[in-house]
Amino acid sequence: MRKNNQNKKKIVVAIGGNPNSGKTSIFNHLTGSHQKVGNWGGVTVEKVEGTVEHKGYEITFVDLPGTYSLTAYSIEEIIARNFIVDEKPDVIVDILDAGNLERNLYLAVQMIEMKGKFIFVLNMADMAKKQGLKIDGDKLATLLGGPVIFTVGNRGIGVDVILDKVVEVYEGKDKKVRHIHIPYGRDIEGEIKKIQSVMRRDKDLSKKYSTRWLSVKLLENDREVIEKIRKQFKNPDEILNQVEESKNKIYKIYREEPEVLIADQRYGFISGLLQEVISLEKVNRIDISQKIDFILTNRVLGIPILIFFIWLMFQVTFGLGAYPKDWIQDGVDLLSNFVANILPEGILKSLVVDGIIGGVGSVIIFLPNILLLFLMISLFEDTGYMARAAFVMDRIMHTMGLHGKSFIPMIMGFGCNVPAIMATRTLENEKDRILTILINPLMSCSARLPVYILIAGAFFGKKAGNVIFSLYAIGIILAVVIGRIFRRTILKGESEPFVMELPPYRIPTLKSVVIHMWDKSVVFLKKMGTVILVGSIIIWFLGNFPINKKYSTDYNLQIKKINMELSKIEETLSKQNPDYEKQKIAMEKKLQNELSKLENKKREEDIEKSFIGIIGKAIEPIFKPLGFSWREGVALITGFVAKEIVVSTLGVLYGAGDNEEGQNLKEVLLAKSHMTPLVAYAFLVFVLIYTPCLATIAAIKRETGSIKWTLFSIGYELSLAWILSFLIVHIGRLFIGG
Ligand code: GDP
Ligand code: MG
Repeated sequence: MRKNNQNKKKIVVAIGGNPNSGKTSIFNHLTGSHQKVGNWGGVTVEKVEGTVEHKGYEITFVDLPGTYSLTAYSIEEIIARNFIVDEKPDVIVDILDAGNLERNLYLAVQMIEMKGKFIFVLNMADMAKKQGLKIDGDKLATLLGGPVIFTVGNRGIGVDVILDKVVEVYEGKDKKVRHIHIPYGRDIEGEIKKIQSVMRRDKDLSKKYSTRWLSVKLLENDREVIEKIRKQFKNPDEILNQVEESKNKIYKIYREEPEVLIADQRYGFISGLLQEVISLEKVNRIDISQKIDFILTNRVLGIPILIFFIWLMFQVTFGLGAYPKDWIQDGVDLLSNFVANILPEGILKSLVVDGIIGGVGSVIIFLPNILLLFLMISLFEDTGYMARAAFVMDRIMHTMGLHGKSFIPMIMGFGCNVPAIMATRTLENEKDRILTILINPLMSCSARLPVYILIAGAFFGKKAGNVIFSLYAIGIILAVVIGRIFRRTILKGESEPFVMELPPYRIPTLKSVVIHMWDKSVVFLKKMGTVILVGSIIIWFLGNFPINKKYSTDYNLQIKKINMELSKIEETLSKQNPDYEKQKIAMEKKLQNELSKLENKKREEDIEKSFIGIIGKAIEPIFKPLGFSWREGVALITGFVAKEIVVSTLGVLYGAGDNEEGQNLKEVLLAKSHMTPLVAYAFLVFVLIYTPCLATIAAIKRETGSIKWTLFSIGYELSLAWILSFLIVHIGRLFIGG
């Protein structure tokens, strides 16, 4: 706190703003006759200061030169920003021409990046009114991070409020004050962080200045700041080298100078801001972006257009992706057959063919879908459409305390939760990010569909379609409900208001799309490859060991016997018999039948006595209250690795033979499992809710960076799945029995 000899507390206030925004009018009204006029140190640019007393404070106003921007291109701009950066005024009052908000906000947006406490004075309120503009001052204040005051400077209307506000803000009593920075997108933000960390090696200076502001300025090629770094920092070369490297990297991706991209992003921020705070029919729609936005973010058309694009995304991802998927599937089959032929019968063959190729192969086939999904998402992002989608969905997402931006990962979740969870990176706020990650698995991913198709097909016949649809709906409803509950309990806190930037549309460069797509896919492939590989081997091991089991009967001997009988049919039957052929066929059929029964029984016992069977029996009590047998329990456990595995596990456990999926298994399930339709539905709900797969768990761990949240996610999903299935079975029984 500044004190002078009369013991009056001093507040220094800088007044900034565009030329002709009414600064001088307001300044004169505030300071009356108490003004001093001079020149800024060393330059002949007018410096006007005035001091007034208010509520026991001595408030000094410094009228900064009027500027449109805070680059280093003119002496006025340099004076204005050096005053803010070096003198650190207690409060900064930014005067804006309310009738020209867009242009005036460009300065405001650069000011708020410099850190400080701001008051935004929307002067020329009379002119704005005449233009028919309605400005939501409260919202503007929230989004800019400082109180907003409306004034008519030349008539002194509202000007005195500034004095009260200055004191309030100075004393930290104004709730609107908070620091905001304009997000520059993942790539640029990443480079800013790198530059900042090099700057922080000089501890003293990085404390004195905002390293973020300096980094942004350096990326913008600001010669003044470059000088500052050279003169003041201990490690200028290190810093400037990093800046060069970062600029090159950004240029390589976007084929555009960082300076331009940063300016675009600021304009995007402003467009978004204006969309939210100004309501009227006649915003000056000057550029093409705004014209396109008029349609894409339209209140009526916005949502149908969004739905169309989402439909298109899935169409491309799954429709177009089906062809290469089939080719890869053929390739995997070929490899599998080839390896099966060259390896001798035995453990090694089983490991390689069933374990490794079967397991990893089942994931590799999704590669084209994943690449295409990422391609579409990169296209949406790089053209600027994603920002519009978020904008359109904002209101709906607010019902669960989230922003429009969280909508994107949720949509992607229908495809696959892993890239969806990765997409939460676009969310700035940590709590929003975690909340979005936590509810994401409730979006039913495409891997769950095979399970739905199998079970619903077996137990619900013609109603299968409705049953499957209901599962998707339950997932969405749960996401909303759980989202709201978490928001009010463990992830409490105001959902921080922020501007949804509307960056200008651009035609993406091939390079940037490919780089973005590839970056995401590589991460996916690496991690998923390892996780799936290990998971598959473990399941294979558990299903095949121990090898020496004690069977209830000697199957091998019996099988041998039947085979012998088969080969001797011709000898046992007399050829003279007129029904010889008929009898032979009947006999063969009977023996074959016995044989396959025996083999099935052996396989069943194999499984029951393998580790997986032992585990299944052990965990049986957990699933018993839900009406699931140990087989369903085991299928759910193996489903941890990937949901598709639920189907193949059921196939193995119910001994559906080689035809694991489709018709046979369906019939076998209906005949052998003790599930009623009600229990089967509970099973499906369980599959919907519990942790989707190991890859998702790995993604959650990576993106939250926290074991705690990862475990929490698994824990809440499992409990929720169990409880809901339990309720379905038991409440269902009250009504329909079964
Ligand atoms: P400066 O360049 O920012 O210092 O702006 P001035 O204070 O010199 O004002 C520029 C012109 O706008 C002057 O003619 C003022 O009388 C006029 N002016 C200032 N505030 C208002 C206002 O709120 N409404 C209207 N209609 N005119 C204003
Ligand atoms: Mg003036």
